[in-house]
Amino acid sequence: MTENSTPSEWRPATRLLHAGEERTPYGETSEALFLTSGFVYDSAEQAEATFLGDVQHYQYSRITNPTVTALERRLADLEGAEDCVTTSTGMGAVSSALLAQVRAGERVVASRALFGSCHWIVAELLPRYGVKTVFVDGADHAAWAAALSEPTSAVLLESPSNPMLDILDIRAICDLAHKAGALVVVDNVFATPLYQKPLELGADVVVYSCTKHIDGQGRTLGGAVLGRKEWLDDVLRPFVRNTGNTLSPFNAWVMLKSLETLSLRVNAMTANAGRVADFLASAPQVTRVFYPGRADHPQHELAMKQMSAGSTLVAFEVAGGKAGAFAFMNALRLICISNNLGDARSLVTHPATTTHMKIGPEERARLGITDGTIRFSVGLEDAEDLIDDLRRGLSAVAAR
Ligand SMILES: *Cc1c(COP(=O)(O)O)cnc(C)c1O
Repeated sequence: MTENSTPSEWRPATRLLHAGEERTPYGETSEALFLTSGFVYDSAEQAEATFLGDVQHYQYSRITNPTVTALERRLADLEGAEDCVTTSTGMGAVSSALLAQVRAGERVVASRALFGSCHWIVAELLPRYGVKTVFVDGADHAAWAAALSEPTSAVLLESPSNPMLDILDIRAICDLAHKAGALVVVDNVFATPLYQKPLELGADVVVYSCTKHIDGQGRTLGGAVLGRKEWLDDVLRPFVRNTGNTLSPFNAWVMLKSLETLSLRVNAMTANAGRVADFLASAPQVTRVFYPGRADHPQHELAMKQMSAGSTLVAFEVAGGKAGAFAFMNALRLICISNNLGDARSLVTHPATTTHMKIGPEERARLGITDGTIRFSVGLEDAEDLIDDLRRGLSAVAAR
């Protein structure tokens, strides 16, 4: 295969299509899909040299695969990271990053407002292996300072958070974390690689569920871990390869195609989200709207400092608690009820009875998730059609 070096002056939209581009001697336009589990050697000597690391040769797709490598290269380029390791899912990325980093007896500090499964990893899984874990209210700087006053192995945070779109001060938390010796892992799903660059804000590692905006069309699951080459090579790769948390070449190929339209989709979805958030804020049946791009978001200023745009997600609360929220959702005709997000199709979720059911009412109250809270992942439909559908849902709330 021949790899073209990527001209440094190319701008982001161009890089999403061409960064790290490689072609086989057939000269295909699109990236080749290497749907193969293994690779063959010309000789026993070549196999031996490959295993010794003396020659570069693909060995087995659990370790590396050319299609997966192409995606990793493009994601690293997009993030501005030295390197990238992909995983089978977003949770594969989060769990491997933490499990590869920590040892029994060490500490992990995490923000309280995490995606449900991330919360489980920190609250339930890590303690089983002798790791001490501490949760902190994300916006409480003094609580971070207290939690990070002892040596710590890793910090995990999410900003904007799921589902309430809280904004955490990534730079300030990284400064405290580094003094405690911690590796800072930022789950950047809600911001997308387009709107927030955690590595520039001081983070060490960025993780994605590529299932969300990166595929963005509801087809494949995948994850990515990005950061310094040395940490990825020495700490993460051995863990991922030997535990089998690998991305399928087919899924990598789908995601390479998706990256071509990432900025078009995310920008259009964000424009829709901004319009929808303004509409919801004006509706009498809506008691609160949480959207980082609106001036009434509690951390709007910080959001605009560390992110370049709002978000494709909006959280809001309808009157009438759970019954109000269910009446709203059941009256929708265009927007689907689903727990996925970042999709081209608009999707609504009731966190209290789905994604955040298991954390219990006390923890939900602490996170500000009420029974009337709805998370809205805004898609690519015409904004006017979305607003018509929201009107339909809100009429059902008013009619109760
Ligand atoms: C979806 C999601 C994950 C998990 O990703 P999967 O691909 O579903 O495993 C982790 N973090 C956040 C913020 C997410 O939205």
